[in-house]
Amino acid sequence: MVKQAKKKRSNKFILGLFVLVVLFIGVTIVSSNIFSKTILSNLREDESEVEIYREENLKEATEGGVLVTPSPKPVTNSIPANYGRQVSVPILYYHYVGNNPNPEDKARDSLSISPDKFDEQMGVIASAGYSPISLDTLYAALKGQATLPAKPIILTFDDGYIDFYINAFPILKKYNMHTTAFIASGLVGAPAYMSWSQIKEIDATGLVVFQAHSVSHPNLNSLSPEQVRFQLAESKRVLEETLGKPVNFMAYPYGASNGVSWEKAKETGYLGAVGTWFGKLESEGNIYNMPRIRVSGFWDLEEFKKKF
Ligand SMILES: [Zn+2]
Repeated sequence: MVKQAKKKRSNKFILGLFVLVVLFIGVTIVSSNIFSKTILSNLREDESEVEIYREENLKEATEGGVLVTPSPKPVTNSIPANYGRQVSVPILYYHYVGNNPNPEDKARDSLSISPDKFDEQMGVIASAGYSPISLDTLYAALKGQATLPAKPIILTFDDGYIDFYINAFPILKKYNMHTTAFIASGLVGAPAYMSWSQIKEIDATGLVVFQAHSVSHPNLNSLSPEQVRFQLAESKRVLEETLGKPVNFMAYPYGASNGVSWEKAKETGYLGAVGTWFGKLESEGNIYNMPRIRVSGFWDLEEFKKKF
């Protein structure tokens, strides 16, 4: 009898323990679900808030018109907020202007514009009445010190490839298109890149402004703050010394930047910098990571016209 009573008691104890464990697991699952849902929806709200904000402003900011918003908006990890003066200025960016030497290389296809296609694109920009401006002019407009033309546009070229000298520059000259070219100072003269004498030759025409693109083209997000500082300061110093002109802007290699590189760009004397995230609303708030529009090698002329 005593044994049976003990057995019953221990059975009850095990059952109770089991119920408690089940309850504990249940409560944990439900609460973690609620918790993660809350976090996720908050994140989504933040993102969409920034997006909606951008969309609205994009609608309001007419081509060349200036819009001023007073308060800073939330900042995401890698994309700064738009605030202050804002203007709608498409900044197009190109890599290769040349036929793809290796048709198997599909990534290169997307980055390559054939010289014929490039000629047609410049024709479209010219006949649509766009005025290519410099980043300095955009900066002055954002600071309230300059008025933009009716249809401003900025043409940029990354990396300083030799085909800029061979293919792109003669076409830019034909259409008299002001251009900005970003140079990685340590890659000048390397195979497939322009030499200093070619860069100086183009620079002397005044049609192209050379700006910085780091020293060795690293992903800045993977470097220490001191290394980021070196990449930004040294490329600026070398370009300024070689060309005898101020270098006020830079493009982040691979478009990769964060709060550290924005801060270092400011510290080392840049007035602004461009990224690779899509958009054409340039503002005082995103001046150290301005959006651009990548011209894809896959676009036909109709698609090109629709992008800006
Ligand atoms: Zn690059």
